[in-house]
Amino acid sequence: MQQKTDTPFLVDLDILNTHNEKGCKACNRKFSLGDTVVMAYGPWPDEPVKLIHEQEAVFDDNTGAWYEKAYFMKRQGT
Ligand SMILES: [Zn+2]
Repeated sequence: MQQKTDTPFLVDLDILNTHNEKGCKACNRKFSLGDTVVMAYGPWPDEPVKLIHEQEAVFDDNTGAWYEKAYFMKRQGT
């Protein structure tokens, strides 16, 4: 049985406090309470995964991970 650590989750106060200084790396907007977010891989040199909005990410079944959309397209070569 696969563990569902890849499930999107909702922004709570704790996430707001720790992430809203930088905001979402995909759209550069701040997070709001109740936003659906995922930990996604992207073209970021400092950290391999970052918290971004679910609608800006795609889930890759092959690797079982989320990717920032533009980054994912690049990896696919399309
Ligand atoms: Zn975003």
